[in-house]
Amino acid sequence: MTVDVYRRLAHFLDQLPGGFPATDSGVEFKILQRLFSPEEAEHFMHLSLIEETAKVIGCQASKPVEEVSERLAGMERKGLVYARLKEGHDSQYSAVHFVVGIYEFQLNKMDTALVEYFEAYLPYFIDPEVWSKVPQLRTIPIGESVAATTAVMDYERAEALIQRHDRISVANCICRLEKEILGEPCVKPVETCLSFGSGADFYVRNAMGRYITQEEALGILRIAEENGLVLQPDAAQETTFICCCCGCCCGVLRTLKNHPAPAEIAASAFVAVHDEDLCDGCGLCQERSQMDALYLDNGIMSVDRTHCIGCGLCITTCPNEALTLERKPEAEERYVPRTTTDKYIHLAKTRGVLDNRKMAKIFLQSRKDRLLAERDS
Ligand code: SF4
Ligand code: SF4
Repeated sequence: MTVDVYRRLAHFLDQLPGGFPATDSGVEFKILQRLFSPEEAEHFMHLSLIEETAKVIGCQASKPVEEVSERLAGMERKGLVYARLKEGHDSQYSAVHFVVGIYEFQLNKMDTALVEYFEAYLPYFIDPEVWSKVPQLRTIPIGESVAATTAVMDYERAEALIQRHDRISVANCICRLEKEILGEPCVKPVETCLSFGSGADFYVRNAMGRYITQEEALGILRIAEENGLVLQPDAAQETTFICCCCGCCCGVLRTLKNHPAPAEIAASAFVAVHDEDLCDGCGLCQERSQMDALYLDNGIMSVDRTHCIGCGLCITTCPNEALTLERKPEAEERYVPRTTTDKYIHLAKTRGVLDNRKMAKIFLQSRKDRLLAERDS
């Protein structure tokens, strides 16, 4: 019975756009057993990605609203559901993907055993085939790495993304925290993960982060540039977060680096271009590249276009301005959905877990549950 609930939960999570792939070792079940009680697992399967009140979810689960409210509040504290609280309104809850979601929300609960499970699961999690079509994160250029003459969209400018928000939080990077627990602490700063809007509220409410001002958030971007961290926001124009990542700890960058051609699967509109006439071979750019995308060939520095993800870190520190960041040809650029919801619909359809019929069914079910909840109140 208990095993069965975790099998059903694994399937349920895999049917969400972000997926929850099966492994040969079964480590994914160890993760679920560690995070969810059997009762929480059952509750989770009454949620969808549509935000609903406890009353509506109670109707769906045929359970008293008080019991459901209490359970959901507890699950929010454990990072197992997403919640949006608005003054004067009932709290709204939704299911949350394993990544980005449940994994990141374990920030305060990590220990050696959990980190080892996550590390064992990482190679299964990112399917390069799917990621190349619908990435969950994208890479945007750091600081002033793009020349004024190069076209840059507003959603590709980290500063502009931050300036859109009045509620911003910063949290510790879960990947660098993981490495610290494993006894391999990273030399780069840890408190660098930015969330916006209701995501910021969620982090602060659940003691995972603290609110900061726009100025402080812009300061985090400067810290990222100084320390050679790659900017990776949500792969949507209206981004909900920006990660500041290093190639040694970040699960996504580590996975990309293991691919023979990371540039083919990473979502970036830019690529570094090298001018050998200006280069004195100092090697600083090699130290900066988190993707090992620069190499010496017969004493001449070159950019490996198949590895460059257009982060711009090598550009801003080249003493001779021998590197520039250029926009890729339009045919090589990736589609960036407008919202996170658009991204997830696109991802779910690409993974084959959603079609228009299933989507209509989910919306109709939500409507029915809301009507029933209204009738019963
Ligand atoms: S940092 Fe600039 S000058 Fe130094 S090796 Fe790289 S491209 Fe050449
Ligand atoms: S060469 Fe490396 S540091 Fe430079 S833009 Fe490409 S990935 Fe970033």
